[in-house]
Amino acid sequence: MTLRLSTGVGELPGVGPARKRSLEKLGLRTVGDLLSYYPRSYEDRRRTVKLCQAPEGIPVCIRAMVAQPPRLSRIRKGLTLTKVRIADDTGAATVTFFNQDYIRDALRTGEDYVFYGAVEGSAGSRSMTNPAFERAECSRFTGRILPVYPLTKGVSNNLLAGLTLRCVEACADETPESLPPEVLRDNGLCGAACACRSVHFPESETALEQARRRLIFEELFTLTCGLALLRTRREQAAGAAFRRAPLAEFEALLPFPLTGAQRRVMEEVAADTASGAPMNRLVQGDVGSGKTMVAAFGAWLAARSGFQCALMAPTELLAEQHFRSLEPLLAPAGVRLGLLTGSVKGTARKGVYAALERGEIDLVVGTHALLSEAVAFANLGLAVADEQHRFGVAQRAALAAKAGRTPHVLVMSATPIPRTLALIIYGDLDVSVIDQLPPGRTPVETYVVGEDKRQRMYGFVRRLVGEGRQAYLVCPAVEETQERAEDTRPPAAGPDGPPEAAPSAALTAAVPYAQYLQNEVFPDLRVGLVHGRMKSRDKEGVMRAFAAGEIDVLVSTTVIEVGVDVPNAALMVVENAERFGLSQLHQLRGRVGRGKHQSYCVLVTGTQHPESRERLRVLSKTADGFKIAEEDLKLRGPGDFFGQRQHGLPQLGIADLAGDVRLLKQAQQAAEELLRSDPGLQRPEHGALLARVRRLFAENPDMFN
Ligand code: ADP
Ligand code: MG
Repeated sequence: MTLRLSTGVGELPGVGPARKRSLEKLGLRTVGDLLSYYPRSYEDRRRTVKLCQAPEGIPVCIRAMVAQPPRLSRIRKGLTLTKVRIADDTGAATVTFFNQDYIRDALRTGEDYVFYGAVEGSAGSRSMTNPAFERAECSRFTGRILPVYPLTKGVSNNLLAGLTLRCVEACADETPESLPPEVLRDNGLCGAACACRSVHFPESETALEQARRRLIFEELFTLTCGLALLRTRREQAAGAAFRRAPLAEFEALLPFPLTGAQRRVMEEVAADTASGAPMNRLVQGDVGSGKTMVAAFGAWLAARSGFQCALMAPTELLAEQHFRSLEPLLAPAGVRLGLLTGSVKGTARKGVYAALERGEIDLVVGTHALLSEAVAFANLGLAVADEQHRFGVAQRAALAAKAGRTPHVLVMSATPIPRTLALIIYGDLDVSVIDQLPPGRTPVETYVVGEDKRQRMYGFVRRLVGEGRQAYLVCPAVEETQERAEDTRPPAAGPDGPPEAAPSAALTAAVPYAQYLQNEVFPDLRVGLVHGRMKSRDKEGVMRAFAAGEIDVLVSTTVIEVGVDVPNAALMVVENAERFGLSQLHQLRGRVGRGKHQSYCVLVTGTQHPESRERLRVLSKTADGFKIAEEDLKLRGPGDFFGQRQHGLPQLGIADLAGDVRLLKQAQQAAEELLRSDPGLQRPEHGALLARVRRLFAENPDMFN
């Protein structure tokens, strides 16, 4: 059979229906998919040595004969050992396999195999544990650098490497070349076929390096082209043109003067919305920097020009909070407000729908319910998404359908994104930064404390509650068994490896911890609990009670991270703080210090690693979210920094955004040049590139924030 890139994996030899299903679980449907499924690491199996020369502890290949039949022994329930004696012409060794009973029948006495693994011990008692092996006669993987792929149940690395090898041999040359020849030449990149071969089965480290460099470049290049195309499309679309209005007139509505940074960003919004092309702007500002005012300004501008504005918050509670704070500011200026959340029901809900459709509401505040089909606008001109990282093409399209044109879009985020990353993530967005806090804020005092200070910390909680304040206590997980934090952000290992065992496992779990605190530590206080596995209705109920002062100590997971404003909360305690990213801790800390009271953040950690503690101390030294983010990025890389899905970035197959900044710049430059000569990638020679860009869009409908 001749293999093509489009050949289904089910037609490959050795792949039956069960394996086909397992492969599909990894997203592998065709030969082409297999070829773009990249290894996660490699095993250097080039070196074959004699048993007597085997270096201790370094993986090598040993060609040896099975000298005696394998012996299987059951040590205890769930643990079996299979021992095999092997020999070559220089010596012998014992090979042990744990829990791999099939070995007994897989290894035949008297036959030669190549074993790959580390040899331990010396002459008299050489041994290997769980080596990989294959028949020496028909060995495919010995003598090369072998790819190691991410696997799933039912798909072994031998299977995947074997299939890929076949596909590479048959089809690598068919790999479409999406990079134009001048781009290859100017950036010193190898061709697509060569990269495909070398990324799977490299002849040398150098060949692998070249392949990776090309593939990373290609990925970033495609991404940049895609973002540029989106931007062009947007700039050519028609948006609502708002009339300009003096900022002072808006400022007169507020009880405080605007900060310089707020004013600057508002001017940018005013210019964008007056231009006639749809705005797509991200407003980044640290927690408490006053982003809501920018939204209010946008709504005010829209209303003055006869357009409607929709403000979307991630939770009902936040939507209500915005509604309550914006109504008194904007109503006197003649802006008619409406609230639309899941709790607005029946005739009230129908009333809001009708008013929106008739144009009798200028600013509607709500949750994502605003995007639902039932909602029709008379004249939507501006959509604002608050604390929302994912407001992608699909949502914009939904809004455009409602508005009959592309509305202006403003996205507000407190996640400080280092410039290097913002370049990609927000390639289709213009970015404004509010880099100044309103005056008169007292910084949150931040302390890093060890387990030995736990009782003092409880005493401090009690004292503040006694003064009438409220406290948050945040834990990384919901239940004891759950090792990883909930929600979208993994707790991620600290810089010193996997999370350390918690000093007391119970302290990492919100549910038992809340019980413990209520029963043992604060029996006289009102302890509440909120976590991400609760129904959103229940969650909001608890948050509401906390906001109303009916709870003194709120135990929670990171669900409280986003935007909630409870000015009376003056203490944030984070348990197992070493498990969180610095930026995430900074966000958590932003939940306090919102009122007139001096506020505190206590980071409790049981870690004994000096570096871990030092890392946490960054927070007690600075309140600058950007500095903290840069620090985080340096220490942890972007994956951890954002949590896997939060950032809305496409799943890059191979590029590492923090590590590949130089290459990113090159790719961006090359993409810009190419697009200057062929803005829509319409030329036939750019067909493969355009197809690749389209595929990236199709696979990641939400990525272009
Ligand atoms: P965030 O950027 O975190 O969304 P908010 O918009 O919620 O911040 O603002 C935080 C608090 O600061 C609010 O209580 C708001 O009324 C207040 N605030 C906003 N702008 C100013 C300002 N220029 N001067 C004083 N207080 C302000
Ligand atoms: Mg906010």
